[in-house]
Amino acid sequence: MPRQFSLADGGKIHAVGLGTWQLEGNQGREAMVHALKSGYRMLDCAFSYGNQALVAEAIEQSGVAREDLFIVDKLANTWHSAAEECLDRTLAALKTDTLDLWLMHWPSPLNHHGNHPKCPTLPDGTVDFEKNWNYVKTWQTMIEIQKRRPEVKRLGVANFGIKELEAISVTGVLPLVNQVELHPSCNQENLHKYCIQKGIQLVAYSPLGSTGSALLHDPNLKAIAKKNNATVAQCLLSWGVANGWPVIPRSSSPDRLDQNLDILELSKEDVDAISRIGKASPKRYVTAPWHTFEEIV
Ligand code: NDP
Repeated sequence: MPRQFSLADGGKIHAVGLGTWQLEGNQGREAMVHALKSGYRMLDCAFSYGNQALVAEAIEQSGVAREDLFIVDKLANTWHSAAEECLDRTLAALKTDTLDLWLMHWPSPLNHHGNHPKCPTLPDGTVDFEKNWNYVKTWQTMIEIQKRRPEVKRLGVANFGIKELEAISVTGVLPLVNQVELHPSCNQENLHKYCIQKGIQLVAYSPLGSTGSALLHDPNLKAIAKKNNATVAQCLLSWGVANGWPVIPRSSSPDRLDQNLDILELSKEDVDAISRIGKASPKRYVTAPWHTFEEIV
């Protein structure tokens, strides 16, 4: 199976990365150190995860050299109108001079001066969006920042559907990556076809179906896993890599971290069977009050 995928700028992205959302405290840091020592080289981070300093400590403790890592980070929703400051804080917290990939976390600019750092609300309880701002303007800003800041190696987006990708194409610069929820129950078939045509690499977040995933308990998936002498998680991740996208699973357990790095060569029959299982139970596990998603197809 491929260990890396090629990006439209000629760069490479690892087939398996470590999701760092909710990796917190000593257990989170130890999980990250274990992952790095075991061979993970791509870290999926975000300003809004609030654990960038922990990621920096883990990198230092692991002894892995910065130049051997591919660090992804994301511009937070409440920082669209102050993107460069978010970048500076990110670089400082991660103790790094560069980001290999900087993503717009959501196409959802929220009030930078609102009543909450992640999800500000108006007095009537609705989401407080940034006034006189939109995500196309954010994308243009990120493009301008990248032109003058060599710290930003590549630009991408997350949680973008076809409508949003079309909207930002007016800037003349397409994202290299679109990171979206992607697993058999949320297979993003149309978005995948569109991204292939445009040279945008999809990256699968929540590739196991996130916390409390029903997919991990699916009897048909269990049968495929047994046949392959593997776990359901390995089959889910291997299905993603076989379909052509990197996966960024998260785990706080050393055993599961090792397991998730071990991608199998699934037969075409098994890949197709896993696709059918997911289609029978379409589901998004990640939703957010600030965004309306397109239908999953
Ligand atoms: P995942 O799909 O990676 O699932 C994580 C859950 O699966 C945890 O409960 C974990 O528990 C469990 N797990 C992990 N490995 C195994 C295994 N081998 N067997 C059984 N259970 C397992 O969920 P996430 O939602 O965290 O997605 C992954 C990453 O994607 C995030 O960490 C984040 O970096 C990124 N992401 C990005 C988003 C965006 O908006 N761009 C949104 C959501 C996620 P345990 O820890 O006990 O192993």
